[in-house]
Amino acid sequence: MEVFRLKNGASPLVVSIPHSGTYLPEPIVAQLSDAGKAIADTDWHLNEVYDCLDDLDVTVIAATHSRYVIDLNRPADGSPLYAGHRETALCPLGSFAGEPLYRPGCEPTVETINERIRQYWQPYHDQLAATLESLRARHGFAVLWDAHSIRSRVPMFFDGVLPDLNFGTNQSRSCDYALAKQLVAEAERSGRYSVVSDQRFKGGYITRTYGNPARGIHAIQLEMVQKNYMEELPPWRLLPGTAAGLSEQLRELLSLAAGWHP
Ligand SMILES: [Zn+2]
Repeated sequence: MEVFRLKNGASPLVVSIPHSGTYLPEPIVAQLSDAGKAIADTDWHLNEVYDCLDDLDVTVIAATHSRYVIDLNRPADGSPLYAGHRETALCPLGSFAGEPLYRPGCEPTVETINERIRQYWQPYHDQLAATLESLRARHGFAVLWDAHSIRSRVPMFFDGVLPDLNFGTNQSRSCDYALAKQLVAEAERSGRYSVVSDQRFKGGYITRTYGNPARGIHAIQLEMVQKNYMEELPPWRLLPGTAAGLSEQLRELLSLAAGWHP
């Protein structure tokens, strides 16, 4: 099993989907608890809800393996993203609901984590970095969209209900302010969803690492709530009727991002 799926496109836009993979390698399955095997915290169905990516001339890098194997949106050295907030680790030991992901005594060792970095984390990042550099060389700039979704209520991480669309630009440091402003305006124009920027979600490791407007790389994260396209409980069913409106909104936003230039 490849560690990511790659589709090349000619436009300056790259879409990264690090948390939608559901594959668990057999040796890891044997160590996981039932909660681990249930992979509840997957960014479910993003390939389906972002169906515009099939038609738009954009590059897509999508993880195939579960975030429980290793989290591609965390630094490999395990340092925290949000000081003072609870968050999940590079190799998470617990679910968003606080359940242990491994059977007792089967938690990954430092050696195991290092091996997972080598096998799964590094190839995704090598590909992403090389793709951004090649698009930047061709167009003079590149845009990176890091696509995520999460349940609208996760008491461990935030109070109440999350807004529908949460853009993250590391407080305007990861992308040109004009791009972020246009995307927010486009999302607000439809009036279908609540939209915020740089609130609880400011962009994770991918957005913060690659986004560097001075070097011509503009990165933006979209964290969106799952209730606008699926059931937020097992078996995590896609709701095609509800999802159609969100897919249309995403198509408008991605078209804008693919055609944007500084
Ligand atoms: Zn995610």
